[in-house]
Amino acid sequence: VQFDQLGLSKPVLDALTAKGYTTPTPIQAQSIPPLLEGRDLLGIAQTGTGKTAAFVLPSIDRLVKSNVRPMPRQCRMLVLAPTRELAAQIADNARLYSKGSRLSVVTVFGGTSLHKNKVDLSKGCDILVATPGRMVDLIEQGHLTLSAVEIFVLDEADQMMDLGFIHALKRVVKLLPHRRQSLFFSATMPKTIRELAEQFIKDPVEVRV
Ligand code: AMP
Repeated sequence: VQFDQLGLSKPVLDALTAKGYTTPTPIQAQSIPPLLEGRDLLGIAQTGTGKTAAFVLPSIDRLVKSNVRPMPRQCRMLVLAPTRELAAQIADNARLYSKGSRLSVVTVFGGTSLHKNKVDLSKGCDILVATPGRMVDLIEQGHLTLSAVEIFVLDEADQMMDLGFIHALKRVVKLLPHRRQSLFFSATMPKTIRELAEQFIKDPVEVRV
């Protein structure tokens, strides 16, 4: 299988070509078609498998094709990651792949200026990549609403649990619209994590790599 057989749009394929990627990794080949259809996904995969592109690429296409354009421009995709490093990496990927698609990507995480986060968000945000703690701060201070989120991604759920983000996570999920696409990734899937996943995702495609 090649990327151009998965149903992705030209701008996204062009970004992949520019990066020199022609062949999808197994998680990409298995995830991209059902994600383009709007299915929920439970992904059991480690970092290094290409899972970031697996969720970023089809999401860009769905955001571009969706007719919803909230005014003011509220976040339409939320990606939660356990660490700053991972959040920054995901945001870099999202910026790279969405270059031809006119979407704005905002990153917020602890240890950076809260004021800058507010300014960035006020300029409009399509894709928000965040760590849970900083996100809760911004919501509590009235600088962020999640009512326009169409796609929700939880990355590295097991690490999220280990780092004690479970309460922040549950608070965030309560604020999301019920009608949404949800993606849940974890490197491991013990019973506790599977039970957590079942609270967020509906009738998911399950991909294990
Ligand atoms: P990830 O698992 O998302 O952290 O990706 C691991 C690394 O693989 C990153 O450096 C990606 O840029 C790279 N990568 C992702 N997809 C592909 C692909 N289809 N072909 C070659 N490299 C890729």
